[in-house]
Amino acid sequence: MKKKKLMLIEIEKIPEEIDTLQSKEVNSLEYVYLSKLYNEGNEQILIVTFYSLEEKNAVFRVFFNHKTFITEFLLPEHRWSESTLNTLIDCWHGSDVAIPTNQHTEKQIRKFFSSTDNSYEAMQKFQRDLRKAQMDRRHKRETDVIDEKMKPVGSLPKNFETWLNEVALNFSRYIYYKRKTNRIIKGYCTSCSGQVEFIITKETPQLNVRHNQPGKCPTCNKKVTFKAVGRTTRQYDTATAAYMQKTDTGFLIRYFSVQKKYHEHYWKPEFSFSELVRAFYDNNSVVRYEYTYFRNTHKIRWCYANNIYNLDVACLYTRNIQQVLADTDLKYSCIYELAKNTDKFNINRYIYAYRYYPAYEYLVKLRLYRLVAGNTSYSSNSNGYSLNGNGIQQVLGINRLQLKQMQRLNGSGNHLSLIKNAGDVGVSLKDAHLELFMKWRINHYRLASVLRYVTPKKIIKYINQNMAYWEKNKDKYSFQSPASDFVDHWDDYLQNCVLLGYDMKSSFILFPRDLKLRHDEVMNLVKAEKKELLDNAISSLFEPLYTHFYFAWRGMLIRPPTSADEIITEGHKLHHCVGTGSYIENMAKDRCYIFFIRNAKHPDKPFFTVAFQNGRVLQCRGKLNCAMTNEVKSFIKKWQKKIGGTAHEKQELFF
Ligand SMILES: [Zn+2]
Repeated sequence: MKKKKLMLIEIEKIPEEIDTLQSKEVNSLEYVYLSKLYNEGNEQILIVTFYSLEEKNAVFRVFFNHKTFITEFLLPEHRWSESTLNTLIDCWHGSDVAIPTNQHTEKQIRKFFSSTDNSYEAMQKFQRDLRKAQMDRRHKRETDVIDEKMKPVGSLPKNFETWLNEVALNFSRYIYYKRKTNRIIKGYCTSCSGQVEFIITKETPQLNVRHNQPGKCPTCNKKVTFKAVGRTTRQYDTATAAYMQKTDTGFLIRYFSVQKKYHEHYWKPEFSFSELVRAFYDNNSVVRYEYTYFRNTHKIRWCYANNIYNLDVACLYTRNIQQVLADTDLKYSCIYELAKNTDKFNINRYIYAYRYYPAYEYLVKLRLYRLVAGNTSYSSNSNGYSLNGNGIQQVLGINRLQLKQMQRLNGSGNHLSLIKNAGDVGVSLKDAHLELFMKWRINHYRLASVLRYVTPKKIIKYINQNMAYWEKNKDKYSFQSPASDFVDHWDDYLQNCVLLGYDMKSSFILFPRDLKLRHDEVMNLVKAEKKELLDNAISSLFEPLYTHFYFAWRGMLIRPPTSADEIITEGHKLHHCVGTGSYIENMAKDRCYIFFIRNAKHPDKPFFTVAFQNGRVLQCRGKLNCAMTNEVKSFIKKWQKKIGGTAHEKQELFF
């Protein structure tokens, strides 16, 4: 049908019946329609013109042939539309809204569509069927492409199910036990499918197992969890697993959801797995597919991913990795080593991270598996690494000894953060202490702050002495652990003690018998005389800092502030944040020092301000927070050289 020709067909006059129809029909009636047949060459066209009852005018007409239809709007302005009657006319009312003008129209329309329905329904059905056929064709074009992509995806290795069971679900092993007598426990191991029996003697009290206790199977020697028969009705374990496979243009990763259910019949668990995601890696692009409902249909099949499934952190099948990646840019990515040495990790994120930061290969080679898996799986690059750096010092910011500790412990990002925080205050934690602090989930920064005055061993002793009280009084709304709560309070208390000029070497001060009480006491003391205390603290720092850090070179000098007021004035004059309370307080608490750089000719005029912590320049800012000029940069370099490697120790003098 050609629009230009259709337009020229004369519009049918308003039928005379319109007035009578209006009066006798229901309120919802808005349109009446009139049909006409028109021959265009060999083609027969049905024209159905719709008249508005209210406006008494032809509003639009629909042209049908046996293949398609099109609507021409006549009012309020001329335009063409592909919409169906369903959308043009309120679809909920259907034939109540529009009716044929006369029997001739009714019969003509039915005959044209060879329909036994009423004329309005006949038009609607034709339009519906046509749209559905078009949609099916569109869908088929899409699914054909997807099916083609899936063709080369082969079968899984023969041992895959065994691998899922033994490796991906390696934690899903239980001994279901029954107590026969006081001394005899009989059980069934789901790992080796065998009976076990324990005879509890005075020498083997550990065999007197409890429900949910971890242990080992005496037969297969695998780690298991003990479950009392009758107390466990249902145990439902799930895992995600991944399998890599070569393709002509790269490789793909197939993701599986794996389930194992132990009900009353624990000796016969229900095991199942389904493949839900496929990610194709070609060159540098990744296209993901998911096994789910196709668009808005009820058909379940491979579709372009909508990110319905979250299976990214998965246990990766290792036997074929090296062969799959041999000819790709991931040849040296160490994915094999990482997969071999971690339970699960985010494979896609690791690939992505490796392509941007090849340093990850180096971290895997250093056997920092947990760190890499954790960092690429769960959090962004937030642990203060510099992945563009060279060498461990630059990349992780730790020294050789600290690295050895990370390797020994297969340390996570949390381990690293604790090691670094402790290192910043010159403390290297023993492995056992470090693990204990991790277990207690103590805020690393707070812990480091306490470590400036108390040894790790004494911290642990003091926490243990106080734990009972803090566990009992744990704040329900706090996300922290009781030990962390305790250390927070302790740190607050100690910092205030420093402000008050207390003797920080006295164990009477360091380990108060009632921390909560003393904490509140010193807090009130400090509140009452804060300004004076800060001023005193900063004034008393002037002399020792001046002796160690004063320096003059090429018309510039650097010196400490004489008072808290001087720091405030500096901040106001240079319009930067150094005058705010936290800088002054941190200096008064011996955490971070402020120094002034001045022009030697105008020694009292603010110029640049330095924040200095743990032997390092944290910041150096001038007017309006501007960065260092080249002259100031050289000056700072020279100054640092002069105070040199002893800077750290020098600061420690005042701890
Ligand atoms: Zn066993």
